[in-house]
Amino acid sequence: MNIPFVDLKKQYENLKAEIDQAIFEVMANTAFIGGPFATAFENAFADFCKVKYCVGVGNGTDAIFIALKALGIGKGDEVITVANSFIATSEAITMTGARVVFVDINPETYNINVELIKEKITDKTKAIIPVHLYGQPADMDPILKIAKKNGLKVIEDAAQAHGAVYKERTIGSIGDMACFSFYPGKNLGAYGDAGAVVTDNEELAVRARMLANHGRIDKYNHEIEGVNSRMDGIQGAILNIKLKYLPEWSEKRRKNAYLYNEYLKNYGLVTPVEIDHVQAVYHLYVVRVQNKKRTKLQAHLKAEGIATGIHYPITLPNLIAYQYLNHKETDFPEATKASSEIVSLPMFPELSKEQIKYIAEKISDIQIP
Ligand SMILES: *Cc1c(COP(=O)(O)O)cnc(C)c1O
Repeated sequence: MNIPFVDLKKQYENLKAEIDQAIFEVMANTAFIGGPFATAFENAFADFCKVKYCVGVGNGTDAIFIALKALGIGKGDEVITVANSFIATSEAITMTGARVVFVDINPETYNINVELIKEKITDKTKAIIPVHLYGQPADMDPILKIAKKNGLKVIEDAAQAHGAVYKERTIGSIGDMACFSFYPGKNLGAYGDAGAVVTDNEELAVRARMLANHGRIDKYNHEIEGVNSRMDGIQGAILNIKLKYLPEWSEKRRKNAYLYNEYLKNYGLVTPVEIDHVQAVYHLYVVRVQNKKRTKLQAHLKAEGIATGIHYPITLPNLIAYQYLNHKETDFPEATKASSEIVSLPMFPELSKEQIKYIAEKISDIQIP
């Protein structure tokens, strides 16, 4: 049986009539950049996140960059984030001129270890960017407490966690600002690049909107320099249709994750842990394979037609791109260890019970513990 890692084709086939119609409408209205279709999505997504403002931007990386700039962060500042994430998180920090400061992970959740944040704070620290990795909320309450005590801003990197919930609060509504990616493979994906910054703070929303649009206050009146990072009308129209289905898709992802947990429980690998009072949305389903069996397991699954991935094989501070920070692998022991043991199994809403069962059966062929 061939099982892809994600199946965007199946999702399009299910929504084809609606999506095709929406794309033609955008073209008929020549509403290519921003415009009514992007605005309609921004309003709907703000409601979805339970915040007042949503600013559609070009992609998730720009969303983080723009949020940082809106908060006035730049050269001479330090921003704390987590060692295990996609490079976009730390890249956006560096893009502002600020210095990225990494914190090791909690080995159970793979999210930022909140116990280790305090020791990284200096008089230059301006913000913390927790990442809700794999769709599991970071432990926000202790982060908010540390931030408040030290006068720091909190920007949620919610690129993998659309619709996740932390203690009855929707992800995106917890920090000062939050950033989303609508890269096609994300839980809510466009048909190209797109992203958003959300916030309850009007001043920050206005600032983010200006920064994303050349610092404009009107057509040729630029109060500041910004960037060109706006949401396309076609992406807004597609996202607005898909947003209606997102709660149902998240439910299916959760159901699939629990099926995996059940089928895999006797095979010696470590299945994901959900912290108390959260609803994770399983952007990825990540298991841990000890005893150096990961390569063997991936090769076996590949031979059986099952795609897998690693998120991420090299932890951020260990990347060549961050050699200039002079870190040793022993500085981030848990992230470094996890990066050699984690493997992501196929996860998407349309994944069937039979497929999950089949994957589990093939995993059971390998003696892991
Ligand atoms: C995808 C992703 C981003 C960046 O989003 P793009 O839209 O690809 O620029 C940022 N952070 C995390 C954790 C991501 O997974």
